[in-house]
Amino acid sequence: MGYNPQKIEKKWQKKWEELGIFKAKNFSKKPKKYILFEFPYPSGEGLHVGHCRSYTALDAVVRKKRMEGYNVLFPIGWDAFGLPAENFALKTGVHPQKTTIKNIANFKKQFKGLGISLDWDREINTTDPKYYKYTQWIFLKLFEKGLAYQAKMPINWCPSCKIGLANEEVVDGKCERCGATTEKKVRKQWLLKITKYADRLIDDLKKVDYPERVKSQQINWIGRSEGVIVKFKVKSSKFIEVFTTRPDTLFGCTYLVVAPEHEIVDSLLKSKIQNPEEVKDYLEIVKKKSDLERTELAKEKTGVEMKGVKAINPVDDKEIPIWVADYVLPHYGTGAIMAVPAHDQRDFEFAKKYGLEIKKITKWFREKGIGKKAINYKLRDWVFSRQHYWGEPIPLVHCKKCGVVAIPEKDLPVELPYLKKYQPTGTGESPLANVKEWVDVKCPKCKGPAKRETDTMPNWAGSSWYFLRYIDPKNNKVLADKKKLKYWMPVDWYNGGMEHTTLHLLYSRFWYKFLFDIGVVPQDEPYQKRTSHGMVLAEDGRKMSKSLGNVINPDDIVQKFGADSLRLYEMFMGPFEQAISWNNQGVVGMRRFLEKVWKLSQRTENREQRTENNNLERLVHQTIKKVSEDIESFKFNTAISQLMVLVNAMEKQKELSASNYQVLLKLLSPFAPHIAEELWHQLGSKKSIFEEEWPEYNSKLAKEEKIILIIQINGRVRDKIEATADISEKEAKELTLNREKVKKWIEGKTIKKVIFVKGRLINIVI
Ligand SMILES: [Zn+2]
Ligand SMILES: [Zn+2]
Repeated sequence: MGYNPQKIEKKWQKKWEELGIFKAKNFSKKPKKYILFEFPYPSGEGLHVGHCRSYTALDAVVRKKRMEGYNVLFPIGWDAFGLPAENFALKTGVHPQKTTIKNIANFKKQFKGLGISLDWDREINTTDPKYYKYTQWIFLKLFEKGLAYQAKMPINWCPSCKIGLANEEVVDGKCERCGATTEKKVRKQWLLKITKYADRLIDDLKKVDYPERVKSQQINWIGRSEGVIVKFKVKSSKFIEVFTTRPDTLFGCTYLVVAPEHEIVDSLLKSKIQNPEEVKDYLEIVKKKSDLERTELAKEKTGVEMKGVKAINPVDDKEIPIWVADYVLPHYGTGAIMAVPAHDQRDFEFAKKYGLEIKKITKWFREKGIGKKAINYKLRDWVFSRQHYWGEPIPLVHCKKCGVVAIPEKDLPVELPYLKKYQPTGTGESPLANVKEWVDVKCPKCKGPAKRETDTMPNWAGSSWYFLRYIDPKNNKVLADKKKLKYWMPVDWYNGGMEHTTLHLLYSRFWYKFLFDIGVVPQDEPYQKRTSHGMVLAEDGRKMSKSLGNVINPDDIVQKFGADSLRLYEMFMGPFEQAISWNNQGVVGMRRFLEKVWKLSQRTENREQRTENNNLERLVHQTIKKVSEDIESFKFNTAISQLMVLVNAMEKQKELSASNYQVLLKLLSPFAPHIAEELWHQLGSKKSIFEEEWPEYNSKLAKEEKIILIIQINGRVRDKIEATADISEKEAKELTLNREKVKKWIEGKTIKKVIFVKGRLINIVI
C-alpha cells in the first residue's frame, strides 16, 4: 500500500479527538507548560500559509513536550471583533456576528485539517458576551483606579463619508472607502493611562526571555529620556518651554521649533507675526497628516517661520527665530524643541534646507540650574475609544447630575445590541448612537435619565488578556479561578508576528501588571519567553495579497500534497525568524521525503539492532540529539535536514531494525504527526505515538568528529558549514544546494560538475 495522506490524515485527526490526548489537565502532577500563539482574527479569506508557520512550529514544540512528560496547555480562540466584518455588514447587510460564525467554522476546519494538537475544550471568542463581560470588567477596574479617563483627542475624519476612521482605514491621507482626503477632528475620547506603567514596562524586561531585538523595540517605543526643561523667553513676554536631554549644547541652539498645535502658535497668530496667512496655510496641510507621516525619518521635514517674533537663548541672550514644523509632535516633551544644527543631523538638514544659522559649539554649557529636571516618554496614553459598532461597548453611562457613572458589576456584560443597519451617524459617533432604546438608560446612581457611552473598545482590548481566559474559559464568577491561574501562569512560550512586538505586547503586559496590582493574577509579567516568526512571502517575493493574485491557500496544498508535507515544508523553508518566499517545489520535495520514510517501513525487520552498521547506530543517536536541541531553539529547518540525512543512511541499509525505525518515527512525529502515527501503528503498536516517550540519546555515541566543510563555487570560497567528518558527497551536495548563500550564486545556472574532497571541501562548477 502506498502513502496516501488524504486517507490517513483524516483518520488520525478523528482518532486523536476521540482519545482526547491533547487536553490539558488542571493541577496535574506533571510539570506544566503553557504554550501560546497569537490567536487569529477569523477573516473571510481563511488561514494564510504565513499563519501556518507559527502554528505548525508551536505544534511541533508541544507534541515533543507532551512526549517528554509535560502537562501542556495549547489553546485556541478567536480575536473576532474588528473592522472587516463591520465593513462587510455595511456593504451587504449581513450581521457581523453571522460573518464571524461562518468564518470561525472555516478556520476551525482548517486548523483540524493541519493536525494542530489543540485543546478545543478551551476555545474562546472575544465577541462572546460571556467573554467580553470580563473585558468590560477589567475596563471598569481601570476606571475605578483612575487609569481610564476622557480627553479631547484628534480622530481621522472623512468629510465625505462623515465617519471617524481607524488609522488603518486611512491610506496615504485618504479615506480607504471613498478616496476623499481625510482630516483631523477633535473629539472627546477614552484613554488608558499606560504611561503610568512606562518605567515598569521597561525595567521588567529584565525578568523575561525575549529576543534582544524585541526588548529594544519595546524600549524605543516607550522612548524614556531624562533631561531638563529650559525656558526660552519670547520677545514680548511669553515663554516657550523646551524639553532637552542635552542642556550642555545650549550655546549651539540657533532656532526653536514648535509643534503646529502648540498654544503659542495660536496666540502669536492673533497679534504679533508678519506672515499669518503663510502660517495658516501650513497648518491646513498639517491637519491632513498622521503622526506617522509627520515623524517618518525618511521624509523631508517641512516648516514655516513665524516672522517678526524672536525667542531669546537664555545662555547668551541672542535672538533666535521661531519655526513651526510638523515633525515636532504636540505631546512629545513640551511640544517645542531647541535646534542645535551643528550637532544634530535632523536639525542640520532642516537648517540647511531653510538657510538657518549653523553654529559650532566652542563653549559647552556646564552650569546647573538652568531648568528643572524632567523625564520624558515617547509613549502616549492609549486611545481606547472607537466610533464603530463591532466592538465591546464601554460600560459607562453619562448622567447630567452624576457625571460619568460605571455600570454596576452585577449588570455586566453590557451587551452589544443587535443592529439591522450599520450606517454611520454622520456626527462621528458610533452607529450605536442611533439605537435610542439602547442609549437611553436610568442612571445607576440617581435613577434619573442618563445616556450610555456609545464608543466601543479597540480591537486591542480583547487580545490584551485572552491568554488568562484559556485557563478557565467557562468561569462565570471571575475572569479565571485564582488557583488555576497560579498553576498555569506565566505563559512559558509565546510566539507571534513581529508586527505585534510593540503594541500588542505592550498593551497586554500593561493589563497584566495592572491585574497583578489589584491582586487578580499571580505575577507581574505574563510571558516568560517570546519568539517571532518571519513572514511567508509569495513566490514572486512580494507580500501575498488578494489584489496581486499571489495568495497560496493552505487548503489547496493540503488537498494536493497532504498536511504533513505542508507542515514539513513550512518548518524547512528557512530559518524561522526570517521572511521567506513560498516555493511549491519545496512542498514537492517534502512529499518525496515522506514517501521515502513510508517505503522504509517495508524494509524494517524485527531484529536486534546490533547486526546493523555501527555508523547508523551513531547517526541515530546524533539525530536524536540534534532534533531534540533544534526544536528547543526553534531551528526546525536544521532538525529536518538532519532527519533527511538519517533517512538517506537508512535507505542504504539492506535491512533496518524496527527499533531504529521507531526512533525515526518519534523524531519525525512533531513535524509530520499523521504519517508518523500511521507507520507507528503499522509496526504493531496499539498506543498513540504521542503517548510514547521522547527518545533519549547515548551521549558517547552521539559525539563525533566535526569538520568545517568549505563550499566553493567555481573554485572560490563562498560559504562553509559544520559537518560530520564522514559526510558523503551526496549529503554534502544536498546540504550545500539548500544554503541561501549558495542559492544566490547558482540560481538559474546549470551545475556542470561537483568536486568533492572528503572531509574538506565541495566545489560546485557552474
Ligand atoms: Zn470616505
Ligand atoms: Zn445620576
